[in-house]
Amino acid sequence: MLISVESPNTVRLALLPPLALYVHIPWCVRKCPYCDFNSHEQKGPLEEKRYLEALMRDLEQLLPQVWGRRLSSVFIGGGTPSLFSPESIDALLSGIRARLTLEPGAEVTLEANPGTVEAARFRGFREAGVNRISVGVQSFDDRMLAALGRIHSAAEARAAVDAALQAVGNVNLDLMYGLPGQDISMVVSDLKEALRCGAPHVSAYQLTIEPNTVFFSKPPPLPEHDLCADMQAVVESMLLENGFEHYETSAFARPGRRCRHNLNYWEFGDYLGIGAGAHGKISFPDRVTRHEQTKLPRDHLEGRNFLEKAVPPAELPFEFMLNALRLVEGFPATLFQERTGLPLTVIQNELNESEKKGLLERDWQRIRPSPRGRLFLNELLERFLPGERKDPG
Ligand code: SF4
Repeated sequence: MLISVESPNTVRLALLPPLALYVHIPWCVRKCPYCDFNSHEQKGPLEEKRYLEALMRDLEQLLPQVWGRRLSSVFIGGGTPSLFSPESIDALLSGIRARLTLEPGAEVTLEANPGTVEAARFRGFREAGVNRISVGVQSFDDRMLAALGRIHSAAEARAAVDAALQAVGNVNLDLMYGLPGQDISMVVSDLKEALRCGAPHVSAYQLTIEPNTVFFSKPPPLPEHDLCADMQAVVESMLLENGFEHYETSAFARPGRRCRHNLNYWEFGDYLGIGAGAHGKISFPDRVTRHEQTKLPRDHLEGRNFLEKAVPPAELPFEFMLNALRLVEGFPATLFQERTGLPLTVIQNELNESEKKGLLERDWQRIRPSPRGRLFLNELLERFLPGERKDPG
C-alpha cells in the first residue's frame, strides 16, 4: 500500500474511490404514513423545468471538487422520480453527461412507484438512458397496501414490475414485512409473487415506526418482535433457496445483479448529492468532506445555499464501519485504509474486542460481521463510535 500515515489523525489517501451521483426528486402523489424521507405531497403542477435548472446548479457547484473524475453510477431517487416525464429525465441525464463523463456501462437507476407509470413511460425512461428501475411495490396484498396508505393496488404493482422488466430487465423490487395485521403466510405469498415476477433484485425492509410520521403519532398494531424475526428468516431462506445472494442487510440479488450504486455507498465510495436535501461525500488526498443540499423543495428551488464540511478524521472509522458492516461478506482488510486514509491499527482494539464477543469474523484478507453481529448490528457498530474507541495499546 502506498499510503504513509503520519499519525492516526492524519488522512492520506493514495487513491480516490469511485464516484457516483445521487439525484433527489422530492415529490410524491401522497405522503405515506410511515415515510420519513424528504418527500412532499405534490400540490399543483410539477415544476419540472425549474427543478432541472436547480439540479444543474447544484451539480455545477460541486464540479470543481471532482474535475477529471468519471461517474460510475447515477441513481435518481425520491420521492417518486417516475412522476417526472421521460423528456425531463432525458434532459436531466443529458445535462449530467454534458458536465461529467459517465464510465462505459455505468448503472443508471430510476425509482418508480406503481400508479405513476405505464409501459410507454418506462420505455421513455430507457430511451433517456435509464438501465435499471427500482419499483416500490412494498406488498402484493391489497389489504397490506391499504394499511400502508399506498396509492396503488396489487394489480398495479404487478403491472409496473412487468413493464419495468420489459423495458430494462435490470429491476429491483422493494418489499416490506412486519406490516399491520401481517402473518407469516402473507409474507410467503408476497415472496412467491416477487419470485414469479422474475425481478433479479429484491430489497426487503421491516416496517419501522419513525419520528415525524403519521404512524408515530397514531401507531398501528404491528406484529410482535419474534414474529418479525421469523418473517425476516422466511424472507432470507426463500430468496436464498431460489438463487438469490444475500449481500447486504436488506438486499438480495441474482448473481451479477447487485446494485452497483448502493455497493459504492457501502464500500465507502464517493458520491455527489444533488436535489432537495441530497447529501454526498467527496474524498481528497488529505481529507474527506460531506455536503448537503437545502432540504425543503421551495428553498432549494430558490437557490438557498448548501452545507459543506470536512469529516473529522476521528469520525471516519465509524462512518466507514456504518456502511461496510452492512455487507454480508464484509470488506477486504485493505479497504479501510484505502477509503479512510487511516491505518487499520486505529481500530485494532475494537476489532479484537468485537471478535472476542463473537460479533465479527476476520482472516488475513477480509473483515465481516458474524451471523450474530448481523443480528446485533447496532451493538457492533456502537463499538466504533469516536467516544467509545480507545487508542490501540
Ligand atoms: S412513495 Fe415512497 S417516498 Fe413517497 S411518501 Fe411513500 S414511501 Fe415516501
